[in-house]
Amino acid sequence: MRPQILFPLFGPITTVKGVGSRVAPLLERMAGPRVRDLVFLSPQGLIRRRPGRVADLVDGEVQTLTLTIEAHQKPGRPGHPWRIRARDDTGAISLTYFKGYGAHLEERNPVGSVRVASGKVEHERLGANWQMVHPDYLVAPERATDVPPVETVYPATVGLPSRAIRRFVRSALERVPDLPDWLDPAWRRSQAWPPWREALLALHNPSGESDLAPQSPARRRLAYDELLAHQLALAQRKQMRRRVPAPRIAPGGRSLSAEAALPFRLTGAQARALADIRGDLASGGRMTRLLQGDVGAGKTVVALLAMMDVAAAGLQSVLMAPTEILARQHFDTIREPLAAQGVTAVLVTGRSKGAAREDRLADLRSGAAQVAVGTHALFQDSVEFRCLGLTIIDEQHRFGVSERGRLRSKGESAHLLAMSATPIPRTLELTLYGDLDVSNLDEKPPGRTPVATRAAPMHRLEEVVGRLRQAVAGGAQAFWICPLVAESDLVDLAAAEARYAALRAVFGERVGLVHGRLSGAEKDAVMARFVDGTLAVLVATTVVEVGVDVPAASIMVIEQAERFGLAQLHQLRGRVGRGAKSSSCVLLYDPPLSEAATRRLDILRQTDDGFLIAERDLELRGGGDPLGLAQSGFPAYRLADPVAHRDLIAVAADDARLILSRDPGLASPRGAALQILRELFDWRPDGPLSEAD
Ligand code: ADP
Ligand code: MG
Repeated sequence: MRPQILFPLFGPITTVKGVGSRVAPLLERMAGPRVRDLVFLSPQGLIRRRPGRVADLVDGEVQTLTLTIEAHQKPGRPGHPWRIRARDDTGAISLTYFKGYGAHLEERNPVGSVRVASGKVEHERLGANWQMVHPDYLVAPERATDVPPVETVYPATVGLPSRAIRRFVRSALERVPDLPDWLDPAWRRSQAWPPWREALLALHNPSGESDLAPQSPARRRLAYDELLAHQLALAQRKQMRRRVPAPRIAPGGRSLSAEAALPFRLTGAQARALADIRGDLASGGRMTRLLQGDVGAGKTVVALLAMMDVAAAGLQSVLMAPTEILARQHFDTIREPLAAQGVTAVLVTGRSKGAAREDRLADLRSGAAQVAVGTHALFQDSVEFRCLGLTIIDEQHRFGVSERGRLRSKGESAHLLAMSATPIPRTLELTLYGDLDVSNLDEKPPGRTPVATRAAPMHRLEEVVGRLRQAVAGGAQAFWICPLVAESDLVDLAAAEARYAALRAVFGERVGLVHGRLSGAEKDAVMARFVDGTLAVLVATTVVEVGVDVPAASIMVIEQAERFGLAQLHQLRGRVGRGAKSSSCVLLYDPPLSEAATRRLDILRQTDDGFLIAERDLELRGGGDPLGLAQSGFPAYRLADPVAHRDLIAVAADDARLILSRDPGLASPRGAALQILRELFDWRPDGPLSEAD
């Protein structure tokens, strides 16, 4: 229930003075439906109105003048402006109105009266006169205080100018109550942050540019409040999840012997992740864990051993992959090690048909098969488990929210392990995954040779192709990526097809092409020919399946590399360098490179640590929506900037954890204030909060 103290803030925007039925929809689109949304609308900049005299005007500046009205020059013809001639001791100026004028202009500003005019001044193109087109303010001297020396600018829209928004924000601010402070007093003092209400007023009343900077005390305080509200909701969700009862699964003898039977030893990171998972499985509460690891970090084997534990306890597991080819690859990887321990796995994809499919489904229903590997086909109603104990989702971000929900419905209390190869900057991890337990595979299996990465301008294409021909003659396989960045992919597709045709002239039948317009089966067929070595060069738009393992492929060529984001380039490069063979990546670019693009390509050449790359990417891109996060389920903060305020994210997460460990029910006075905070931002532990929902 919403605390009463917040009622004024949660009233509809139409309760704000002056917001009628015409502007309400515009304002709602801009800010949101409630009074609160209006006061959380941050100004984007400010206008300084400098007082001056006509003789000292500067073309293009916003100035405030005190003038005597000399004459009204009415428009001679339609389309001509209405001009008011006015002057001060030092010179004359025209106040020019192209629309919205009429006799009232003259009535209100009669000849001989003194007026304060404020607006942008400019030299008329013809003649040497000064003019001010549509003054922002034209008021009598006794109302001069209406003209603010510094004025905030809000994101405007057609029919809703910044100054109207500013007026609405001001009346909305009158409704802002004093709220009990939810911050730890010592922490607030150490940061020299103002109280909440004061910070909000300061946000809308900056005395200079520095007050608008993200690092100003008021802005940091407001950002911290928002981050804390979010982290608190995430932490509460995590707490709730852990309390959902789930089968207790202790690692059995069989899973230990499976580990011993692996052809390699687990890396330290894999062993730690497995220990985390085993701890969760044995806890009696439901596991909701994210296993994060760069491409090639070895997530599959961790999943395999977890499934072995579950099978040893007499329960079933399901491993979901986003594509047919990935599902098959997983199945081929895990079937034998599982069979060696007496565990039966079945593959269920869109292409399993007829009697074979029926047999597999029957085995899952009866429990004769303990592991199912597959694609979206696993969501179908005909797929039933005898007792599902563990759901594993590979490349989890590639599944939609509803799909994950449907899979969950196959086993309500099944443990969940999500796997992701998308490196998230560590500073943002808490924001995206604060409600999950996270294990990081931050160490690659030994014996990998780093991918030799170099950048080459497009005019050296022939040379690159020549080297590729040599390498292919020596048995190498290569990916050749053409960017897919245009809104309509037709242009990009044409480019990929042209490249394919050109490479065919060199490599003949040994070149294939995959792109987004192919059907799933067509794509898989081409990929399969690349996997089995029939194709030496695979030209692809960026559809190259995330996670596909083609250990023999050792060369990656990326065309127009400057058009990709760093994280994307890193992911693409991760397709090679998976075997022990030395591998290379060529970043082809159209010169000249911008400074930012040069730096991006440099970073890529310097490191292959995906997390570090993601972090640097974030720094290079600055504010806004650095990684397209809005689309990937990242919360849309109003006051916090995940880049500028990233130092506060970890503090807020720690704070939230500490608060809940001391006061799980938020029953203390500070707890009550924190509940108000949470309501203020509408983040509830049972609402959508993050990527993993
Ligand atoms: P990803 O994390 O990208 O899913 P995979 O699970 O596909 O990575 O593993 C990539 C490759 O590394 C596989 O061929 C796998 O057999 C191998 N691998 C995994 N763990 C180890 C290890 N500890 N030592 C050596 N090789 C390993
Ligand atoms: Mg994988």
